[in-house]
Amino acid sequence: MSLPRPFGHVRGEQERTADAQRAEALARQLAGRASSIATAFVDHSGAARVKVVPLSGLVRAARSGLGFSPVIDAFISDGSIDPASELDRPDGDLRLVPDLDRLAVLAEPPGWALVPGDRFHQDGTAYAGCQRSFARAQVAAGLSRGISALMAFEVEWMAGRDADDFEPAFGGTGYGLSRVSQAADYLRDVLAALESAGVAVEQLHPEYGPAQFEVSVAAQDPVSAADTCVLVKFVIGAVSARHGLRASFAPAVLVGNVGNGGHLHVSFARDGRSLLSGGSGRHGLTQAGESMVAGLLDALPALLAIGAPSPASYLRLVPSRWAGAYQIWGPENREAAVRFISASPSDPGAANVELKCFDLSANPYLLTGAVLAVALASADRDARLPAGVSGDPAAPGHPLAGRAVRLPTTLARAVAALEASHDLRAAAGDQLISTFAASRRAEIELAADQPGDVVIARARWLT
Ligand code: GLU
Ligand code: MG
Repeated sequence: MSLPRPFGHVRGEQERTADAQRAEALARQLAGRASSIATAFVDHSGAARVKVVPLSGLVRAARSGLGFSPVIDAFISDGSIDPASELDRPDGDLRLVPDLDRLAVLAEPPGWALVPGDRFHQDGTAYAGCQRSFARAQVAAGLSRGISALMAFEVEWMAGRDADDFEPAFGGTGYGLSRVSQAADYLRDVLAALESAGVAVEQLHPEYGPAQFEVSVAAQDPVSAADTCVLVKFVIGAVSARHGLRASFAPAVLVGNVGNGGHLHVSFARDGRSLLSGGSGRHGLTQAGESMVAGLLDALPALLAIGAPSPASYLRLVPSRWAGAYQIWGPENREAAVRFISASPSDPGAANVELKCFDLSANPYLLTGAVLAVALASADRDARLPAGVSGDPAAPGHPLAGRAVRLPTTLARAVAALEASHDLRAAAGDQLISTFAASRRAEIELAADQPGDVVIARARWLT
């Protein structure tokens, strides 16, 4: 697990020395198994950024961190820097410090290890714009109130041939053994590489879309869940390349077809007891649990700016594709943005909500941190959920036909909701919210007036 840490933490000499000693021991264990160590974080655009050191450099990286310019969070998806960003300066440097507790040795690509990093100022103060530190701080804030969260991202992807356009690499049918038989070598290698990287894979299945697959993993603390999301995408990308394929994790891969979601499963406990089961409310919800879920439902328009942060996200988020386009909740309803999954008699702790409207263009740290921040702010408000919805509100004759509230249908509307969210600003601080919102505005500008197929094509291979 990644240790919780409050915002504003200062990394002093004692911590630097302890990290260096830890790295020395780790380097001995890694000898012969990993020669290249990639320390990664995810920027505002959702791109994982990296500095690589040889194994011999691990101790120095752990002690002092690796230099990274703060301008990186002003990069946008076409690789350019947003000139309007307050971060667009050639000066300044941050230190990217590997979190050695979360280092994963990889079988694919062989010889590599991937470790998530946190960003600090040179004087050791945590950087207020560090998305992973934000998530760690939310975990710490929860624990100080006895509240913990477990989360897991579902990773969907489509496997294409190595071409600019998307040419599905496999046929066969969604959920079908026929697709598995075509893709058997590939899927076996994906599973083996994930397991060997220490990912607790729960299941893998062929999804509904063309050459689409999905991996689900065990729930973890929110920071580790985000680390795992980055790791899973990296490993799948590497195995795909080994097979001469390309994995698209983009929200929309083809015009007018289902896309890739990045659904986030979430549960909460207070003093070790589930807040989503064993209570006297609907479906066993406790009062605090219901209030948290109601708070999340209410905050979805703002959370969407973080969890569906690309113009292409809104080409995925349409009704009747199980993407969660409506601001509704319902037990086991795959058309609802909030799908409630009850505890089962065999697994009473399994109750969770699946936030379906999000996709994998999100920065997973910002998203897990923001979801936890909203839930914590809502826990004691005694908010009540509206009536749960079953069925697809877009279906003819549905009681809510034409009346169910859609989530924002553009990134611009979601960003406006984010900027108006007091809870998220209070938890994340002005710097994180304003630089993130600025980066989204640059993305909106880039996609303005572009037809859907161009927006999709530009984002198809971004990871
Ligand atoms: N691919 C769908 C999405 O865009 C989700 C399908 C499912 O329910 O897993 O989110
Ligand atoms: Mg799925």
